[in-house]
Amino acid sequence: MPLRLFNTLTKSKDGFAPIDAKNVRMYVCGPTVYDFAHIGNARPAIVFDLLYRLLRHEFGPTHVTYVRNITDVDDKINERALRDFPGLPLNQAIRNVTEKTEAQYHADVGALGCLPSTHQPRATEFIPDMMTLIGQLLARGHAYEAGGEVLFDTQSMPDYGRLSGRKLDEQQAGARIEVDAHKKHAHDFVLWKQSAENEPGWESPWGRGRPGWHIECSAMSAAYLGQTFDIHGGGLDLIFPHHENEIAQSRCAHGTPVMANVWMHNGFLQVEGEKMSKSAGNFFTIRELLADWPGEVLRFNMLRTHYRQPIDFTLAGIRESWKMLERWYALTEPLVDPAPDAAFLEALLDDLNTPAAIASLHQADELALAGGLGFMGFSNVQMKITQKSAVDEAEIYCAIETRKAARAAKNFAESDRIRDDLLAKGIVLKDRPQGTTWEAKR
Ligand code: AMP
Ligand code: ZN
Repeated sequence: MPLRLFNTLTKSKDGFAPIDAKNVRMYVCGPTVYDFAHIGNARPAIVFDLLYRLLRHEFGPTHVTYVRNITDVDDKINERALRDFPGLPLNQAIRNVTEKTEAQYHADVGALGCLPSTHQPRATEFIPDMMTLIGQLLARGHAYEAGGEVLFDTQSMPDYGRLSGRKLDEQQAGARIEVDAHKKHAHDFVLWKQSAENEPGWESPWGRGRPGWHIECSAMSAAYLGQTFDIHGGGLDLIFPHHENEIAQSRCAHGTPVMANVWMHNGFLQVEGEKMSKSAGNFFTIRELLADWPGEVLRFNMLRTHYRQPIDFTLAGIRESWKMLERWYALTEPLVDPAPDAAFLEALLDDLNTPAAIASLHQADELALAGGLGFMGFSNVQMKITQKSAVDEAEIYCAIETRKAARAAKNFAESDRIRDDLLAKGIVLKDRPQGTTWEAKR
């Protein structure tokens, strides 16, 4: 079965045909680096990591280019820099914030089993490319200067709003005119804005300033993937205005009918049925959760829900995920480098249907089970099952070996003593046909 993906642009699940099967190209909007990423931010990282793995499997590991950017110019970053490093020159303070946060992000998503993307460009390294794009938009009549800004002229693009299904209409423009008097239409958005002294800025034909948010992704995707590429992804909240505006900028600057063929969006994550927010007190960073749970358990918990559905992140769900994964790891431990079976792959090829893929593992034999887990990024090397118990893994394996020898010598008193000893430390041994495995008692 060929890969099928739900495309926000066509609102249907379509067969996926890459522009160039030797270089399948995917861009995913990355984090704004001013603070620890939260567990909601982990969702696109995990979902598109799985898609990356699937594309590599289908088209070849060296035939996929995956770009996930780092947004390191943003007003929230300035605020954080001024707050945390008041004595430093602004550029230095900003760099302190962004470099630290970027490193934290890569460590966190790495702990969640995400492979590094092929490229991880920083917005600030592409300011000249952004200026070129803005120059092209002005030259082609798709942008205008007003009120110290360069703005995209949404009315210059007949099919602006196609991705999100929003229509421009004159009345709306009139109704909102007093809000932003210099805009020709309420949906017109900033490409370049002037910077005050205490804001980061770059010299440009439009004065010392900084880019609007959307233009960075148009510049970085074109630099690495070309003017038209295969897949563009991110969370649901990015459809409008971010992705709509990326499309507008890229297509109008390059004069192309399409920016990316397939637009994919993950659903939102809630915590215990509520919108996650700092004020509600249910806001969790990836880092905090990793202190309590193995990264693989958090990853597994995320993949149990289909990526387009909303996901309710609950403690009960995490515990259940830990149990399932632990049971499966115990069954698959002896296997090295296995492959998933057809039922598992077919489920993933059907728009990344991870709940169906995981369900298929309940029926899978040992080899296919290990294959499916490995395919989804569960390697059974990271999970620290003993994290909350008093013994370390090496000690358990030693004990299992000693017990095996005792049983072979028919010294059952000794083998029972070893088993009870471990049980007292919270480790349950399971004797199976393929050998003895263990799990932590909970
Ligand atoms: P941001 O740093 O806010 O731009 O977010 C980075 C990525 O995380 C984007 O793709 C967002 O759509 C996604 N995202 C943010 N919050 C959530 C959430 N609660 N659930 C799922 N995805 C989210
Ligand atoms: Zn973007």
